[in-house]
Amino acid sequence: MTIWNKKFECISPGELEQLQLERLQSTLNRVSRNVVFYQKIFEREGIIPERIRELSDLRRIPFTSRRTLRAAYPYDMFAVPLREVVRLQTSSGTTQEPIVVGYTRNDVEHWTELVARVLTGAGINRDDVIQISFDYGLFPGALGMHYGAEAVGASVIPASTAGSRRQITVMRDFRSTVLIAAPGYGLRLARMIREMKINPQDLFLRVGLFGAETWSENLRRELEERLRIKAYDFYGLSELFNPGVASECEAQNGLHIFEDHFIPEIIDPGTGRPLDFGEEGELVLTSITKEAFPLIRYRTGDITTLIKGKCSCGRTLVRMARVKGRTDDMFSVLGVSVFPSQVEEILTRIEGTEPHFQIRIDREADREVVKLLVEISPEIFSDEMKKMQKLKREIKGEIYKLLDLEVEVKLVEPGALIGRGEGVRRVIDNRNRG
Ligand SMILES: [Zn+2]
Repeated sequence: MTIWNKKFECISPGELEQLQLERLQSTLNRVSRNVVFYQKIFEREGIIPERIRELSDLRRIPFTSRRTLRAAYPYDMFAVPLREVVRLQTSSGTTQEPIVVGYTRNDVEHWTELVARVLTGAGINRDDVIQISFDYGLFPGALGMHYGAEAVGASVIPASTAGSRRQITVMRDFRSTVLIAAPGYGLRLARMIREMKINPQDLFLRVGLFGAETWSENLRRELEERLRIKAYDFYGLSELFNPGVASECEAQNGLHIFEDHFIPEIIDPGTGRPLDFGEEGELVLTSITKEAFPLIRYRTGDITTLIKGKCSCGRTLVRMARVKGRTDDMFSVLGVSVFPSQVEEILTRIEGTEPHFQIRIDREADREVVKLLVEISPEIFSDEMKKMQKLKREIKGEIYKLLDLEVEVKLVEPGALIGRGEGVRRVIDNRNRG
């Protein structure tokens, strides 16, 4: 398999450390000159960018978070004047309040290069026809992929939010070999292929790149089986590059983080204490090449681990495990802490359910009530009541057995919960409202 940029993707540890240190210093310099927020922090903490001599000095700088960015809305965290910004995009993330992210021409070039690495890592090349089924609207994912796909020389179809039937017609007639979509949407397309009575063998699809929402190994197997493809995971963050922070190689055993552009750390989300390789915690990222919107020690809210050791693909960049969930998605009810990914694992094992669900937590007459909305397959949905009742009991029973959690199950029709831009919101907690 090919590696897009051997010089950086296979860099030696010593060279990487030197490169990171130089790039970190220049980033800290830039923000201390141009961003009031950082000027104040550096002054308060006595941090002088020129005196940062080791990467571990980074730990002296306080964390930033989504809250920091909301307070700076729209342009207070920008490190360049607006006239140097060539693109503006937004992210609504899991909260409803938007943030604005800007990119200079250099930022867009870096981003394009990183996405080319992502695609090459999944074995994609200039012979491929890539169908991008992400919303091209304000979110960065679709355009980010688009530029990278053009850079590797593939033919790109900006299918965007065309309806599922149209997507399949395009996929068949244009002979798409690669599908890029949210994993849930990939399943929906698989269902549509069946509905349209098309034999997956008559399609040309061979690779799927899925992201924008957390997904599991079970779902990977399901997508690979139903679409007859190899399915890859990628990771990005709308606040930095999305995609373009990390991605899987053919070993499919963790995602290589592009450490020549980002310095990763794992921390205990409760205390902020740095954690070691192999320990599960929140991913914190520092961007070291971004010009318009650099972020220092940014708390991503994503739960993962860093994987030490060589990868069979030859890349030396550190790997992160598939994201398990989000710190703000983890919920505690009646003393039980649950990640939505655990619910997904259970649902993919139950026949007749789609791994599309939403958890709603309410307080009713001083009692906490957890409702689980689950999409089910069309056959079951149109079937008799008895089957639906049986399925509801099965889901309730499995969740209780495995997570020790009492839920009310509501079955909803296929497609009812699917999101296209940044994925489905898995948890809605109404306990502290009103
Ligand atoms: Zn690898």
